[in-house]
Amino acid sequence: MDARVAIVTGAARGIGAAVATRLAQDGLAVALLDLDEESCAAPVATITAAGGKALAVGVDVSDSDAVDRAVQRVADELGAPTVLVNNAGILRDNLLFKMTNDDWDAVMNVHLRGTFLMSRAVQKFQTEAKWGRIVNLSSTSALGNRGQANYAAAKAGIQGFTKTLAIELGKFGITVNAIAPGFIATDMTAATAARVGADFEDFKKAAAMMIPVGRVGTPEDIAHTASFLAGEGAGFVSGQVIYVAGGPKD
Ligand code: NAP
Repeated sequence: MDARVAIVTGAARGIGAAVATRLAQDGLAVALLDLDEESCAAPVATITAAGGKALAVGVDVSDSDAVDRAVQRVADELGAPTVLVNNAGILRDNLLFKMTNDDWDAVMNVHLRGTFLMSRAVQKFQTEAKWGRIVNLSSTSALGNRGQANYAAAKAGIQGFTKTLAIELGKFGITVNAIAPGFIATDMTAATAARVGADFEDFKKAAAMMIPVGRVGTPEDIAHTASFLAGEGAGFVSGQVIYVAGGPKD
């Protein structure tokens, strides 16, 4: 059988790059989608140096036509995509009274509209294949987080979207799940530290003190969970939100 083809969005760095690299290690051909094709050069080089197959595609996941073109390009160049990891994300944190319309719309567009557009484009190939895996990145912020009304609403919305797709697509052999990470050390959390004027190492130490396993998460922690959910053996796990946060969340 040909290798399965996966698409990972926001794959240039952070969690997306780790997920793409891990899925390639698992034997999948991987399309790395990000705003700028060139920005995926490093993870693509890592994957191909290890003998894997990778394709970088530039796309804004909130642009409907661009998403459809990008997914078709993956199908043409790598084969029909049947694994999708919706990971692209941005932050526009602010307390409600300071949150602008742009802050709200930008976060909704990338997280919620992007996840919707990508899933709709990829399900065509998954339903034809009668097999598929969709993994959506939510967050512990879905449970509420000061300064993140936009992000928390989008990440909670992703959980409802995930459960609904699981119900609609299950009969086609497609599972749909969400991973809700806690604090993961990436450029995103480094930017949050910078925004509040904290040194990133001190910021991580303070966060680790609140986490039962005593450390912050790594992109590989999330990649490991995505690998499980994308795998052949996870076919009876669907509509779930897995909190990967070093301790219990609900
Ligand atoms: P990151 O380091 O900021 O990486 C996000 C990637 O998404 C970047 O490469 C970014 O591209 C890309 N991106 C942004 N907007 C896009 C768009 N419209 N179309 C395509 N790509 C786009 O973030 P991360 O920490 O790895 O987070 C990845 C996901 O996990 C996000 O959904 C985030 O909300 C979620 N998450 C993260 C944490 C955490 O602690 N880090 C916790 C919970 C959930 P540019 O570089 O060009 O902007």
